[in-house]
Amino acid sequence: MQPISDIYSQLASPRKVVITMHQKPDGDAMGSTLGLFHFLKDFGHDVTVISPTNWASFLNWMPGAKGVLDYERDTEKANQLLEKAEWLFCLDFNTSGRTKRMEDALLKSPAQRILIDHHEEPQTEIFAYGISNTAKSSTAEMVYDFIVDSGYTDKISKEVAECLYAGVMTDTGSFRFPSSSASVHRMIANLKEMGLEHSIIHESLFDNFSENRFRFIGNVLLNRMEVFYEYNTALISVPQADLIKYDIKTGDTEGLVNFPLSIEGIRLAAIIIDRGEERKCSFRSKGNFDVNTFARKYFNGGGHYNAAGGSSKEPLDAAVNAFIRAMKESRDQLSTYKF
Ligand code: 5GP
Ligand code: MN
Repeated sequence: MQPISDIYSQLASPRKVVITMHQKPDGDAMGSTLGLFHFLKDFGHDVTVISPTNWASFLNWMPGAKGVLDYERDTEKANQLLEKAEWLFCLDFNTSGRTKRMEDALLKSPAQRILIDHHEEPQTEIFAYGISNTAKSSTAEMVYDFIVDSGYTDKISKEVAECLYAGVMTDTGSFRFPSSSASVHRMIANLKEMGLEHSIIHESLFDNFSENRFRFIGNVLLNRMEVFYEYNTALISVPQADLIKYDIKTGDTEGLVNFPLSIEGIRLAAIIIDRGEERKCSFRSKGNFDVNTFARKYFNGGGHYNAAGGSSKEPLDAAVNAFIRAMKESRDQLSTYKF
């Protein structure tokens, strides 16, 4: 993988570009890809954003979201674009498997693949150019750096700023995680000076719940959470029947895993959701408990030091038991706590 700075001199020559992200995109995946989309559009590139799957409706306010293709719904069109693309930007994921059913088309595309990502252990061999920096708060921050370093800060439009802000804000837990570095705050200050209105973005993302989603959260916290004080751990397990009862859609479970971290003393929070085809897991930690390693070791996943995910093919109760065993094996790490 060559450094991404090698493409700066080619940015001004229009070409066919596809930008993609991980399946079930979150605020950072959608914000970083759309931020890059608006930036590249301005040079006259022919750009399309493709998501491997559908996404949460609370991301639809983002400028450009309506034009994003869903690979599972628009497969034929997306395949044609991937076959013709000259550049294929891969944002906010580290391994091709994170694009699910799109993986084959992504690997077969004749385009030069370009990585911009902040996850651990990227599959660098499949990228022609790229940048991976696990110290960065978000891929959106990396897209901002890419734009500034390439010398085109003047191309940060209102649309670019809104999308990048949404990415950084969601991946830093509204600027509270340790990843909210001085450079993050400097970036936001610069966007503010360019005229960014941030409050409306918080409202669009966080004050758009359906009543069902709110009641679902109530049910989960009351009935589906188990606290293991001895291990400073809390686990939420959600049966598929709950998803059906409350009409839960893609994205409605986003952020739920963070709730138990608000309980005094809890430093590992986990959620296991029975999605039918698999049990999807999310892990969050505070301080020196490494959930990336935990997710890799026990749940075929990965991510970051304090936020990771994985999955299980076992039934929900077996996945829950596997988690409890893994938690018990990690007792020593869970009982020593430092930032
Ligand atoms: P979330 O729990 O919000 O789905 O994901 C937390 C972090 O872990 C994200 O950075 C996400 O990209 C990563 N992640 C989630 N699920 C998986 C997985 O199954 N495999 C890998 N490698 N990373 C994951
Ligand atoms: Mn991210």
